Amino acid sequence: MMIAETTGRAACLIGWPAAHSRSPLIHHYWLRLHGITGGYSIEAIPPEGFAEFVMHLSTHGFAGANVTIPHKERALQLTEPDERARAVGAANTLYYDGAVLRSTNTDVEGFISNLDVAAPGWDRTGDALVLGAGGASRAVVFGLVERGIPRIHLANRTMERARVLADQFGARVIPAAWNTLGELLPRTGLLVNTTSLGMNGQPPLDIDLALLPRDAVVADLVYVPLETPLLSAARARGLRTADGLGMLLHQAVRGFELWFGLRPAVTQELRALVEADLL
Ligand code: NAP
Repeated sequence: MMIAETTGRAACLIGWPAAHSRSPLIHHYWLRLHGITGGYSIEAIPPEGFAEFVMHLSTHGFAGANVTIPHKERALQLTEPDERARAVGAANTLYYDGAVLRSTNTDVEGFISNLDVAAPGWDRTGDALVLGAGGASRAVVFGLVERGIPRIHLANRTMERARVLADQFGARVIPAAWNTLGELLPRTGLLVNTTSLGMNGQPPLDIDLALLPRDAVVADLVYVPLETPLLSAARARGLRTADGLGMLLHQAVRGFELWFGLRPAVTQELRALVEADLL
C-alpha cells in the first residue's frame, strides 16, 4: 500500500507498450460535456518503471489511473484493492481516497450495468452459461455471483482453467466440458461469450442458438466487430442482446466518477463517437 497526496484533476491509462485505446475519447467526451477542466492521457510505462510511477502518481499530476496490460496484477499489489479487484485478481482502476491509493476492477460493473440497461430482467431468466475462463471471464463470473445468480455454468476449451476458476468462486459456479453445451443451452437464461472467438481475425463461436429458450439473453464481450456473428444470430432469433462496446463504455463510468466527482451517463452520442473510431 502506498501513501501520497492527491493533486490535479487529470487521469491516465498506464500500459506498455502504449496501445491504441478508446479511453481518452470516452473521458474527454465526458469532461467536455460537463465543462470539467481536466485531462486523460496515455502513459507508456515499462514494467521496471511501473512501481515508481504508481507510488508517485499524484506527483506525476494524476488523481487516478486506468491500468492495462501488462500491469494489472502488479497494480493489485501496489494499492489497497477492493473486493472486486481481489476476486478478479487484477486492478484496472486506481484512485485516491484521501492519502491512500485504492484500486478496483470496473469490468465487473461494466458488464452488469450494460446488461441492466440492454436487457432489464436478465437476472431472472434462469441459469447463466459463461464461455471462456480467461481474465475477462473472472470479472463476468464475479459480477454474476455478486448479483446472486444461483447457477453459473462455466465452459472453456481448456477445462482445467474452468475448474480452477469455479473452485475459487464457490459452489454456484459449475465447470462444464465444452462438449456438453448442447445439454446446457436449453436451460440457459443468460449466455455470455468471454472467449476471443468472433473477434476479427478469429473463427466465429460456433454454437446452435436454436437450443436457447425464447426469453434468453445473449451477451458478447467482443466488440471488434461491433456485431459479432453470435450477436447477429441471437438477434435473428429475436433474442435480447448486450454487446461488448456497451460493456466497454459502462466500465469507464466508475473511473470518471472516482477521479472527477461526477457520475457520467453512457449516451447514444458517446456510443456513436466510439463506434466511429472502431470502424
Ligand atoms: P484471455 O485471458 O486471453 O482468455 C481468452 C479465452 O478465450 C480463454 O478462455 C481461451 O480458452 C478462449 N479461446 C481463445 N481461442 C479459442 C478458441 N480458438 N476456441 C475456444 N476458446 C478459445 O482473454 P481475455 O482478457 O479474457 O479477453 C477475452 C475477450 O474479451 C477478448 O476478445 C477481449 O477483447 C474481450 N474483452 C472485452 C471487454 C469489454 O469491455 N467489452 C473487457 C475485457 C475483455 P483457453 O483457456 O482454452 O485458451
